[in-house]
Amino acid sequence: MKITKLETFTKSYVSFVKVTIEDGSVGFGQMSTYHANITNQIFHKQVAPWILGKSYYDFDDLADFVFEREHKFPGSYLLRALAGLDTALWDLKGKIESKPVVSLIGGFPGNLRIYGSSMKRDITPDDEANRFNKLFNEKGVNAFKFRVGSECGRGVDQWEGRTADIVKTINSSLDKSVIKMVDANSCYNSDQAIEIGKLLEDNNVTHFEEPCPYWKPEETKKVTDSLKIDVTGGEQDCDLRIWRDMVKRKIVNIFQPDVMYLGGLTKALKVAKIIEKGGFICTPHTANLSLVTICTMHFLKAINNAGPYLEFSIEGEDYYPWQQNLFLGDPFKISNGMVKIEDTPGWGVDINPHWLNKSEYKKSEIKN
Ligand SMILES: [Mg+2]
Repeated sequence: MKITKLETFTKSYVSFVKVTIEDGSVGFGQMSTYHANITNQIFHKQVAPWILGKSYYDFDDLADFVFEREHKFPGSYLLRALAGLDTALWDLKGKIESKPVVSLIGGFPGNLRIYGSSMKRDITPDDEANRFNKLFNEKGVNAFKFRVGSECGRGVDQWEGRTADIVKTINSSLDKSVIKMVDANSCYNSDQAIEIGKLLEDNNVTHFEEPCPYWKPEETKKVTDSLKIDVTGGEQDCDLRIWRDMVKRKIVNIFQPDVMYLGGLTKALKVAKIIEKGGFICTPHTANLSLVTICTMHFLKAINNAGPYLEFSIEGEDYYPWQQNLFLGDPFKISNGMVKIEDTPGWGVDINPHWLNKSEYKKSEIKN
């Protein structure tokens, strides 16, 4: 059954992909977010021409095939575009077989515990504590991650004293049962990170994410070996050689692949296996409420070495207005601290037709 048409629907942050095969069956996926107009150009120039006319049945090999044809371009944008193809093909397979994607890859639909993930560094410690407490009281969310240091900040805090202040404020403000995590987004050198890590240990934080520049794994390894709490990372890494190396050298305690930065679910499943063979758990990275979080729900609910919760962005319209109204209904509804994967074919979501109508449309198709 040949792939006959690849259509894209693009706004500046998000680009959806619609794949059509010979019998008219369709599936929807999404490329990785941000600079979606650039990724969309890559999709039609470097992905679609290799895919049109290929058999849909071989789709777990298609990304590798494109990667070989475009082997001079092993970087992020090609993978971001491939994520759109791969996730559309999984949706199509689910619809053809009348199964949710989670069931196609060895899991079951149902509830999944979340942790509330803050994306803000420009928020005061008190305001951060207040919104965590609100989500704890109103939605039952009982694990949270907040930001320390500054993003790739060369050791400098977002503002002087913020990190020590927010770590202590969150610890003293939240219910004792709440799991507390932090993300440094590559801020510190290893000496600084170990010092911050002691502060975290004294304040009941259990997870220290990306303490050092992610491209310096030897720095991160020193932190991992020096602290009692979990050091975590991996969201930026999208090369299987790097993944095998990071796991072999035990660079962190918990690994965090991003389904869409990697190039889709097919490759994420390979990474999960590498992590599993190393004896580690996988708590994927998913930082906004576009299709990446839906795909990660299905992924996390199926893998053998899943961490205890799904990353779930707590940012709304004020911070990420572009993620509003992407889908019909509310696939991200939280109840008792959990989201739910429905027993619905494919990814189980309907992309909002009004959003699609207002996007930039482009298609690549087989010429008869
Ligand atoms: Mg992170």
